[in-house]
Amino acid sequence: LIVGGGFTGLWTALSLKERRPSLVVALIEADRCGAGASGKNGGKVHGYWTALPRLAAQLGDDSALAIARSGAEAQDALRRFAGQAPLDVWWREAGSLTVSAAPAQDRALVGAVETAARLGVEDQLRLLDAGEVQQRCASPVFRAGLLYAEGATLHPPRLARALRARALACGVLLHEATPMTALEPGSGHHPDGRDLGG
Ligand SMILES: Cc1cc2nc3c(=O)[nH]c(=O)nc-3n(C[C@H](O)[C@H](O)[C@H](O)COP(=O)(O)OP(=O)(O)OC[C@H]3O[C@@H](n4cnc5c(N)ncnc54)[C@H](O)[C@@H]3O)c2cc1C
Repeated sequence: LIVGGGFTGLWTALSLKERRPSLVVALIEADRCGAGASGKNGGKVHGYWTALPRLAAQLGDDSALAIARSGAEAQDALRRFAGQAPLDVWWREAGSLTVSAAPAQDRALVGAVETAARLGVEDQLRLLDAGEVQQRCASPVFRAGLLYAEGATLHPPRLARALRARALACGVLLHEATPMTALEPGSGHHPDGRDLGG
């Protein structure tokens, strides 16, 4: 039984069905699928390469690389889903741009390049000078920038609807307008007493 029909719940339901199609998976959603942050967010798809210096400083190089690579794998899975989704989720791949807007921020960009080179993943990003940044986004306050290879945008409510449609097609038992009001091991009942099937 999965509680919540946002990206987390829907993706989990689909992953479970993919791994074991015979598994009975029920998903309850208090409102409609995508009614929470999943259907209302900025639609930016990105991983953790932009956070590499901070991750390396806090968790060490190996963990930082593992997290960044996991983020890339998640994007690969999303890209595959977008390519076969039951409706167009407006997937657009364009990389990610980080910019400095003050001299004090310039050093952080160089530091990110140095960290990537030290960890052998310099192909993930490229330092842009002010002219190259202006070609992409002509803001008078933008200075240098970092262009990351990974990153995309999509239409969040469309993704939620596509995941919902795929979940139904895979046989997930979906109960919308069904808030979880209590959690008791071994039971799964609707407030009106109906069995939820999970
Ligand atoms: C303004 C904003 C912009 C964002 N922009 C981005 C972005 O550009 N890129 C990005 O990657 N992330 C972004 N995020 C983060 C992203 O939206 C969330 O990480 C993601 O949607 C979380 O999904 P979720 O399924 O965990 O939660 P939710 O989408 O919140 O889903 C939880 C669901 O559980 C349901 N629920 C709650 N309580 C119960 C209950 N008792 N019983 C049954 N159902 C219940 C809710 O109705 C909801 O549908 C943004 C978030 C916000 C708020």
